[in-house]
Amino acid sequence: MLSISPTDRMFILCGAGVSAESGIPTFRGVGGLWRNYRIEDVASPDAWRRDPRLVWEFYSMRRKVASAAKPNPAHFALAKLERILGDRLFLCTQNVDNLHEQAGSKRVIHMHGELFKSRCDTCHRPPFDDANLYEPPTEIPRCPCGGQIRPHICWFGEVPFALNQIYAALDDCAIFMAVGTSGVVEPAASFVAYVHGQARTLYVGPEHPANVSSFTECHLGNAGEVLPRLLGL
Ligand code: NAD
Repeated sequence: MLSISPTDRMFILCGAGVSAESGIPTFRGVGGLWRNYRIEDVASPDAWRRDPRLVWEFYSMRRKVASAAKPNPAHFALAKLERILGDRLFLCTQNVDNLHEQAGSKRVIHMHGELFKSRCDTCHRPPFDDANLYEPPTEIPRCPCGGQIRPHICWFGEVPFALNQIYAALDDCAIFMAVGTSGVVEPAASFVAYVHGQARTLYVGPEHPANVSSFTECHLGNAGEVLPRLLGL
């Protein structure tokens, strides 16, 4: 079991693997979610300019899949950990679903955005809650300013959200744990190297990530089984 001293700050980085046991396919896994789409056609600013209907078709499909999903024991263990550590836990997810919140986590940083939010592609109106499906032949929704409403997602080629807050939390952490992330998507893949020499670094997932050499410990297995045991929750 992981021992956390009363002053330790902990940074947890989650990836698609945390939601895999809830039935949301990972990006690189064999699940059907991404199979019918080329990522460059649906998840980049170019794709949005070229064919916003196809982009909304893809995100509407992901909204449907995520709406049917329920949190698994990994999400519940992390929510319990937050109740124990309070603001000494910094939970940073690359996932865009809301399963951490459904499990009871209150402070989740969604560095790649949120599936159930949308925003205007033109004006600075803040992102807003939106669970609608915009599938063809539905028109692309419009903002009162005339801009098009897009998913509140960090696409490939865009800058992730909350990076200042994230690097401040990395600077402060004594324990860094990555869960269910392949260690390929930047900048998240480099967080573990950033805290090298400062923090104890652990990985949880069924296989070694691409950046395994940067971790001091690897706990192989599914997040829903390993995390509750490792955290003693
Ligand atoms: P990835 O698909 O590249 O890698 C998933 C990782 O999860 C793999 O290393 C795999 O071994 C591991 N994994 C599979 N089953 C697991 C389990 N039961 N427990 C723990 N780990 C498990 O995912 P990534 O590294 O997060 O990067 C992909 C990008 O795709 C991210 O930017 C993310 O935003 C996006 N994405 C999000 C969701 C979601 O919101 N749920 C789903 C798919 C992809």
